[in-house]
Amino acid sequence: MTTVSPTPVNTAANSQLYDAIVIGSGIGGLVTATQLAAKGANVLVLEKYIIPGGSAGYFERQGYRFDVGASMIFGFGSQGTTNLLTRALEAVDTSLETILDPVQIHYHLPNNLDVRVHRNYEKFLEELIAQFPHEAEGIRKFYDECWQVFNCLNAMELLSLEEPRYLTRVFFQHPLACLGLVKYLPQNVGDIARRYISDPALLKFIDIECYCWSVVPGSKTPMINAGMVFSDRHYGGINYPKGGVGQIAQKLVEGLEKKGGKIQYKARVKEIILENNKAVGVRLADGTEYRGKRIISNATRWDTFEKLLPLKTLPKKEQKWQENYQKSPSFLSLHLGIKAEVVPKGTDCHHILLENWENMEDPEGTIFLSIPTLLDPSLAPPGHHIFHTFTPSWIDDWQGLSPQDYHRKKEEAAARIVQRLETIFPGLEAGLDYQEVGTPRTHRRFLGRDDGTYGPIPRRKLKGLLAMPFNQTAIPRLYCVGDSTFPGQGLNAVAFSGFACAHRVGVDLGV
Ligand SMILES: Cc1cc2nc3c(=O)[nH]c(=O)nc-3n(C[C@H](O)[C@H](O)[C@H](O)COP(=O)(O)OP(=O)(O)OC[C@H]3O[C@@H](n4cnc5c(N)ncnc54)[C@H](O)[C@@H]3O)c2cc1C
Repeated sequence: MTTVSPTPVNTAANSQLYDAIVIGSGIGGLVTATQLAAKGANVLVLEKYIIPGGSAGYFERQGYRFDVGASMIFGFGSQGTTNLLTRALEAVDTSLETILDPVQIHYHLPNNLDVRVHRNYEKFLEELIAQFPHEAEGIRKFYDECWQVFNCLNAMELLSLEEPRYLTRVFFQHPLACLGLVKYLPQNVGDIARRYISDPALLKFIDIECYCWSVVPGSKTPMINAGMVFSDRHYGGINYPKGGVGQIAQKLVEGLEKKGGKIQYKARVKEIILENNKAVGVRLADGTEYRGKRIISNATRWDTFEKLLPLKTLPKKEQKWQENYQKSPSFLSLHLGIKAEVVPKGTDCHHILLENWENMEDPEGTIFLSIPTLLDPSLAPPGHHIFHTFTPSWIDDWQGLSPQDYHRKKEEAAARIVQRLETIFPGLEAGLDYQEVGTPRTHRRFLGRDDGTYGPIPRRKLKGLLAMPFNQTAIPRLYCVGDSTFPGQGLNAVAFSGFACAHRVGVDLGV
């Protein structure tokens, strides 16, 4: 991989006017950059860290290759239009080998509610209906309605909703699908679920089905996102990239460079340069300046508007957004190396553990666990597995501690999580070979995300996705991409945001 080495101020390298400068190489930033490069634009990506990927990055310790964040990957299907990761790689003449995951999640829930979401839709419904036979009809009707949303999305090319000619074209090509989506755009999952289902325990199950990716219950989760997640897992399926999640960003960078784009690491953008209130370039922490016709920020909207822009007051559009959305908590993450004998044969890759419904949204309430070595054993030394487990945690709980207190608090929190996971994996503690604990402070530092947040969540019940901003911003020539733009968190979602952003920018640049 070739990279641009840090350039001193005022050299020929930075006197160049790029078509687009992308701040950050998360999957949203890289999809935008590769799409633009594939259209022939001259693109520079500036990444503050030493590798690409952001929350979809990786790190290596003692023979283990750990995913930083995402492990359950949508968007690698081979058909339809919602397989956005496959399509993003193809656009720059590259691809990734993936490993099919037969079960999306194995839930371990209160009152011994044990459900696996099988890739096979009927098998999943049968398993859920076996737990709630009196709700058989409601279960089918609810999940079938999710398919209606998905089928609308999957009928059309997913590009920028801010581009009127695309909207007109897509409407004439797929009028019914468009009307279907317009109908669901202002709706949330909870309201639709309650039309068909009345059992409180089953409604709680629908809540955690939403919470495990939207980090809010069904009442606040947009139906468009749920339609995508609840159906695509049975259509394109969950597929793990061979070699770990970090491969996705590495391959996108390879593709970017093949198309003439550039990426520079250890390049922290300190400021977006404005002239006549228009974004015209960026200034790095070392003082280097780069100029671009369009500037695209893959940092969160909080970082972009509150830290990178020299503004005295937030634009009205951002104020409104902040009134509607707040930062979700960050995570306490444990990256564990485990002796293989702890993991019984037939164990699924992804697990959710919750002992008490009251605690679902609390810090250290719901525990997420992925064991990617069940799909790709090469990520750990022979005879060992990776356990990547995380649980919500607020940054405020980790501030103002002495180094000793911080270390002790991390060890105590990790011990609590391991102890709870012993109910699923007896002998886990004794089988520990390696342990690394990340806190919200770690997420803030290494992922460059304000307070280490997972992303925006609605402050209250909103009208579906209507309040989520697209890629254009109140600052001319500045765009945002990634999980604080439509349609939100998750790799396939930020890839969607990247396709949309590149489409809008491409039209604006005339490429
Ligand atoms: C613990 C965890 C588990 C998750 N699990 C899943 C999962 O299983 N499946 C799934 O689909 N999603 C999952 N997600 C969510 C998913 O990883 C994110 O939604 C997605 O990766 C966010 O992508 P992004 O493009 O918005 O940007 P980010 O990943 O946030 O990347 C932004 C990039 O910009 C860089 N940057 C920021 N500021 C600057 C600056 N000033 N100068 C230069 N560079 C800068 C950062 O270093 C970073 O590389 C998980 C997230 C976490 C944290």
